[in-house]
Amino acid sequence: MIIWGFKKRIYDQTFSGTAECPSCRQRDFRVQGVLRYVHLFWIPLFSFSKKLTAECLKCGSVSGKKELNDAGYSEIRKELFPLKRTLGKNFGILTAALVFILFGLMVLVVAVIS
Ligand SMILES: [Zn+2]
Repeated sequence: MIIWGFKKRIYDQTFSGTAECPSCRQRDFRVQGVLRYVHLFWIPLFSFSKKLTAECLKCGSVSGKKELNDAGYSEIRKELFPLKRTLGKNFGILTAALVFILFGLMVLVVAVIS
């Protein structure tokens, strides 16, 4: 039984935007994103890596961060890793932060009352 470790989630979809293929200047891609995260039992704690590749649908060339321009890369990155996808993979660290804040508030309230 694996108590904790690393997992990855793969997102695969087509993408059409302002990002251009460095070979043929076409704008339709099949993009794949890999989000890696640490888990404890079945609970995702925090994500630590987001990588993506874009495969041109016309010429088939595969591009990564080096080949795509910055604007195109960040546009694909936003599409593949929106907040709703990454938030869930940071559930553990967000919950721990919330508990820490609530505990701090409780200590503060008790200190003020007494
Ligand atoms: Zn191309």
